[in-house]
Amino acid sequence: MVSKRLQEIPPSGTIAISNMVSQMKAEGVDVISFSLGEPDFSTPGNIVDACCESLRGGFTHYTPSLGIPELRKAVADTTRARNNVPCDASNVLITPCKQAIFLTALAYIDPGDEVILADPSWVSYEACVRLAGGVPVYVPTRFEDGFVLDPALIEAAVTPRTRMIVINTPSNPTGAVQPKEVLRQIADIAMKHNIKVLSDEIYESIIYEGSHTSIASFPGMFENTIIVSGLSKTYAMTGWRMGWAIAPADDIKALNKLQSHSISCAVSFAQQASVEAILGPQDARDAMIKEFSRRRGIVMDLLSEIPGIECNAPKGAFYVFPKYNRDIKSAKLAEILLQQGHVAVTPGTAFGPGGEGFIRISYAASEENIREGMARIKKTLADL
Ligand code: GLU
Repeated sequence: MVSKRLQEIPPSGTIAISNMVSQMKAEGVDVISFSLGEPDFSTPGNIVDACCESLRGGFTHYTPSLGIPELRKAVADTTRARNNVPCDASNVLITPCKQAIFLTALAYIDPGDEVILADPSWVSYEACVRLAGGVPVYVPTRFEDGFVLDPALIEAAVTPRTRMIVINTPSNPTGAVQPKEVLRQIADIAMKHNIKVLSDEIYESIIYEGSHTSIASFPGMFENTIIVSGLSKTYAMTGWRMGWAIAPADDIKALNKLQSHSISCAVSFAQQASVEAILGPQDARDAMIKEFSRRRGIVMDLLSEIPGIECNAPKGAFYVFPKYNRDIKSAKLAEILLQQGHVAVTPGTAFGPGGEGFIRISYAASEENIREGMARIKKTLADL
């Protein structure tokens, strides 16, 4: 019997669909997958070369649990320069981004502590909060507002038990980019009530409209923030599991204690290659972002041709979160699309109760697959 803690957690909705797709593909079914947020590109060659060089050079042992100094410095320098966050290498722990979220939950949430989450928001925040014994408190965001957070609702949700607020901008699954003024107000609330903010900035470079603001950039706010981010999405490095947490030195010490008892350190040669990813030429990265922007236009055009679908143009990340006007649960619709239409999407409810009536489509797929998959969605809905 697994622990009560684990019994209460459903498997990850995104990973579950993706596992089903792999199974169907293995059985010879031609499935188009819009499920995982996983770029279809290969990792740029200069990064792969750096990794091979590292391996051949024998860099195959443990590294310091905090990560190698060159990478910690590269992460801190770029974050300071790009996002105006007052950090240096001592504020960085190298660890996969999802691990950084998990470590943060374990380090700061005691049983009964409340954590404020946007509804909808990415699947694993709630799971990490619950695994730590915490209570997720969802604050609704609205399709009509482009899923921008309402600071007044956040303030109203604060209680003496509130320990953390989770922000993810650009957002998975909605593609919303939280405006600077909204983030400033959330920072004020966090500082007033001395609440930590977990700021997931993994999509920070994939922005089509507006610009990225890190909540940690407001005066005094870095002291209350744990930023998590990584290379998976921007550099097509999902399989490398390379990311980081950026936080005040005491927080990094706490997270590192957990790292030392769990994964020990991030993968050594992947760390060396990540220095090349961050400091080397950025043209491949820029080309991929440009291509996501083009595909976003294609997806929006194709969605506009499907009766009964409404969708906000995402301002960042590579997801669309369309609303459909059928009287059918989103989990059921996703099942029908997969089983009958052979196209995989993630049900909106995987991202919180506010996701009912929506599906998430990841357009980090080839144009050919986007066109074919969208045609399958259109046909399956028409046949319902
Ligand atoms: N973050 C990606 C997604 O939402 C990958 C899967 C996961 O980590 O949940 O699709």
